Amino acid sequence: MKYYSTNKKAPAADLHKAVVKGLAEDRGLYMPEHIKPLPEVFFDRIDKMPFQEIAYTVADAFFGEDVDAGSLKQIVYDTLSFDCPVVKVEEDIYTLELFHGPTLAFKDVGARFMARLLRYFIRQEGKEQVNVLVATSGDTGSAVANGFLGVDGIHVYVLYPKGKVSKIQESQFTTLGKNITAIEVDGVFDDCQALVKNAFMDKELNRHMKLTSANSINVARFLPQAFYYFNAYARMKALGKADNLVVCVPSGNFGNITAALFGHRMGLPIKRFIAANNANDIFYKYLLTGKYEPKASIQTLANAMDVGDPSNFARIYDLYNGSHEKITSLISGAAYTDEQIREAMMKGYLSTGYILDPHGACGYRALKEALEEGETGVFCETAHPAKFKETVEAATGAEVEVPARLAEFMKGTKQSVPMTKDFEDFKQFLMTYASCHG
Ligand SMILES: *Cc1c(COP(=O)(O)O)cnc(C)c1O
Repeated sequence: MKYYSTNKKAPAADLHKAVVKGLAEDRGLYMPEHIKPLPEVFFDRIDKMPFQEIAYTVADAFFGEDVDAGSLKQIVYDTLSFDCPVVKVEEDIYTLELFHGPTLAFKDVGARFMARLLRYFIRQEGKEQVNVLVATSGDTGSAVANGFLGVDGIHVYVLYPKGKVSKIQESQFTTLGKNITAIEVDGVFDDCQALVKNAFMDKELNRHMKLTSANSINVARFLPQAFYYFNAYARMKALGKADNLVVCVPSGNFGNITAALFGHRMGLPIKRFIAANNANDIFYKYLLTGKYEPKASIQTLANAMDVGDPSNFARIYDLYNGSHEKITSLISGAAYTDEQIREAMMKGYLSTGYILDPHGACGYRALKEALEEGETGVFCETAHPAKFKETVEAATGAEVEVPARLAEFMKGTKQSVPMTKDFEDFKQFLMTYASCHG
């Protein structure tokens, strides 16, 4: 399968190149040339299939031409070593719990898949070390670092905004050592993202070392996220609740919801989608006005969604040929202040007993406000509430238990490299540091 750039000025790439390069030469995002509809028989029996088998069917539609069946199956089954269950929260409202992976957030799925696919390609061609650069507003860093930890031939650099991620999040990528280097940038998430994007564009740096991105712009990270939407549909179908399904996704860089929209294009019978935002309401404003106006990001309680210029908007725009009408007929939006997020956590807990994290709280609230008669809603719970323990406990009055695998990270020692937001500093660092950590 070929992948074209959303900017249409770079040559099409094969999967290997799209995964290793991450971003196309013209700074566009790669899109698969074909999105194959899955056959009706698949949807007829999907409720009887296990998660991994559903996921393999979806993976095969995208990657089957480029990865042999045995290897692809192995990659999918290894990636999904944990479940993504659908849990009832109240009448007609269900949550798709995406926090059962190693770092307790949905990004584990994409990160684990990408690490395994990249290893598959590196093994094919041998020798040269690949350096993964990843900018994180919180959870990407931990998912990618843990997904790649100890994988031969790959070194990971995690760039994160100083003082803007929680202690627990920070511990998940600064305590690992081995092939993971954490870089603490004196700036905001967008500065981290800009450093990464500039690194890919810098000819000298790219001659010096092989760079790749693991942000949600990478096709190997965002596409596998479609797996759990198919599975959610299957589980809802088994309950007899799949007829008028509304899916609500708490969104930041919009990779997760884009994967759901790809699923929809493949025939997944979801009636409509809701993108729930925090105060970073660029997409919400786009839906209302038809104008996409990126802004500097604002810090909020749902910090993994603090994105002022969501990269994957380019993919959504491309998927619907830039038609505001098509986009708004399928996707609606919502945007919440911190106060409203706290209120959603509190009300959700008091009326249902379910403990939401600040991101899931946006999803729950948006779904509850938009759900119509006869519809059933599923919102993504994108992180475990324990990752935002203080915030959640203050809002709900409930005690949040910390799962053992999360507590384990907190015991490690923080190791990180301080960095300015000036690209020249970052480049200098990579040129020297990478030479001695090759
Ligand atoms: C990354 C993240 C989001 C936003 O996902 P996008 O794919 O960037 O839209 C939402 N919630 C949590 C907990 C996250 O880590």
